[in-house]
Amino acid sequence: MALHEDQIQVTEVEKAMETASTSEKKTISTILIIIAMQTEALPVVNRFHLSEDPDDVFPKGVPWVRYHGIYKDLHINLIWPGKDSLLGVDNVGTVSASLVTYASVLALKPDLIINAGTAGGFKAKGACIGDAFLASDVAFHDRRIPIPVFDLYGIGARKVFCPSNMLKELNLKVGKLSTGDSLDMSPHDEASILANDTSIKDMEGAAVAYVADLLSVPAIFIKAVTDVVDGDKPTAEEFLQNLVTVTAALDHAIVQVVDFINGKCLSEL
Ligand code: SAH
Repeated sequence: MALHEDQIQVTEVEKAMETASTSEKKTISTILIIIAMQTEALPVVNRFHLSEDPDDVFPKGVPWVRYHGIYKDLHINLIWPGKDSLLGVDNVGTVSASLVTYASVLALKPDLIINAGTAGGFKAKGACIGDAFLASDVAFHDRRIPIPVFDLYGIGARKVFCPSNMLKELNLKVGKLSTGDSLDMSPHDEASILANDTSIKDMEGAAVAYVADLLSVPAIFIKAVTDVVDGDKPTAEEFLQNLVTVTAALDHAIVQVVDFINGKCLSEL
């Protein structure tokens, strides 16, 4: 007997739920770590003894670099978007972050994405230099489209995967992450950031979250605070001054998170 349209829809929903719950119960084996800056990435590469991939999984000519290796029961892939071919600086920001996330997920089919990096923190929300935060939500603060509904699309606020057991066990702060393509903060950005109850500010997180959602891969965001945005020091100066010491704190947080993930399935995180 032919199925009625409603029954077909129910069957499809059931199938999707079954697939989701199967992947939640599967032990995590492949993780994808996306890190924007070389200074942030190299301590992690060394810590997990990752090696650079000679047979590139990416299109020929792109500057993206894949480091990989086995750590405990995990296949770890760390992707750094490399340097700008003309200017020689790290490919920070949302455009590179979305491209490498998209290409890496297609090529490597990870069970979980970790976007790790540095961020500005708001002391009004309890952030101090060197703190490691796990993002509960992400949004964009520099995509202003003052037309109904497009305004919400621009902000692109979304909840991200919450590893509640990890939070209970590890010493991480939790807060909302806001992303934009500038290191500084314009008055418009500031208004959006305040309206969104933001604790930390970066240049990649919400872009990685967008692609992770698009491709249905859970993602977590670990950000260590290099500069206090609502403090008295100029951001660029404070960022550069703290970058190296804070990357050590970031590295420490990543190892704790990866150790926690090892041997578990998504529903246990
Ligand atoms: N002059 C720096 C520029 C790096 S851009 C250099 O050494 O090349 C800043 C990077 O750190 C981005 O990847 C961003 O995600 C993060 N970041 C740290 N503090 C930030 C802040 N206050 N606002 C936005 N991004 C910040």
